[in-house]
Amino acid sequence: MRLFKELERRGHEQVSYFFDPNSGLRGIVAIHNTVLGPALGGCRMWDYATEEEACVDALRLAKGMTYKAAIAGLNLGGGKAVIIGDSKTQKTENLFRSFGRFVEGLNGRYITAEDVGTSIKDMEYVRVETSYVTGISQALGGSGDPSPVTAYGVFIGMKAAIKERLNKNDFSGLKISVQGLGSVGMSLCDYLYNAGAELFVTDLDDVVMGQAVDKFGATPVESNEIYALDVDVYAPCALGATINSDTIDKLKCSIIAGAANNQLIENNFGDKLKKRKILYAPDYAINAGGLINVSNELEGYNRDKAFSQAEGIYETLMEIFHRSNLEDISTNEASDRQAEDRINKISGLKSFYLPYKKSFKIRNV
Ligand code: NAD
Repeated sequence: MRLFKELERRGHEQVSYFFDPNSGLRGIVAIHNTVLGPALGGCRMWDYATEEEACVDALRLAKGMTYKAAIAGLNLGGGKAVIIGDSKTQKTENLFRSFGRFVEGLNGRYITAEDVGTSIKDMEYVRVETSYVTGISQALGGSGDPSPVTAYGVFIGMKAAIKERLNKNDFSGLKISVQGLGSVGMSLCDYLYNAGAELFVTDLDDVVMGQAVDKFGATPVESNEIYALDVDVYAPCALGATINSDTIDKLKCSIIAGAANNQLIENNFGDKLKKRKILYAPDYAINAGGLINVSNELEGYNRDKAFSQAEGIYETLMEIFHRSNLEDISTNEASDRQAEDRINKISGLKSFYLPYKKSFKIRNV
């Protein structure tokens, strides 16, 4: 890979490679953009087939974090770390402490957190070596599991979507399908049930399906039947890329609003949804509650504040929908433009290319 060419093309500021023969650490930190603040993003541990694949993943994920922080109104930039290795067999205290020392060496330009393949426990090892880490347990003064705030944010974002598309202020009488009853999906069902919605649910796990039926009177459906349901809102809360060429023509919902990351298999599916008059709440805008929650750790964690900050997702989505209507563009394109505008206003630059900046000071967690 021609790295500088790639950085220029994607607009990244920095990529750092770390190697420690003692712990076996082979890690990469990609920093996309620090105009709004230090780059915050999780550390993924994955058994990448090649180093290039690991680097491209770090670059891609770091850029996504820039947009997520910007649209959520946070004073944070976008970054991501990857550790090359098998998270089931190769995790050690030594590995994560070694990673922590490298993060410390970046002097606050990058703040790490848990992600796919890493856990709160791993982040606690990282914390021994650096204060530039979030997502640690509440017992140690951290923010703990972000899922409740993510679920609340999705509920609030869904409120904005039903106002925009259905001109409704409440959920009574609305039919909503929830795909995935994990930490976020189940909590979202709770909010929706209490708000009077009728729920249709699916999960690969029969136990959680049974719980949703018992607790919320939800109707269980088979995995592949969820798309064609005649519902007002479809909430993807399981995995990404569920809006794809196999599913898009089946959809009968008026709104897509859920927690899953990367819901559109490709960006142009946003245009296809717009043509089909399905209102799409951009994933990284509606699921920002988790990021809002961990970002709170940097100022001393306050759970009530995190929840009340997540209420801002209503206004954010309304602005995105407004821009989408005004400029006749998809909602995901409108969201990207909103995020870029915020950054460009601060940087004073007209285009979205932002050079290396200062080092950062944050409060210790
Ligand atoms: P989770 O792992 O707790 O739950 C996912 C659930 O989806 C599981 O119950 C799993 O059985 C189910 N599932 C998997 N494949 C499925 C399929 N094909 N059909 C139906 N169900 C299926 O995850 P989570 O923390 O609830 O997160 C859900 C989604 O939201 C993920 O895509 C995650 O990346 C995203 N997200 C989560 C957070 C957060 O704070 N947890 C924040 C932002 C985004």
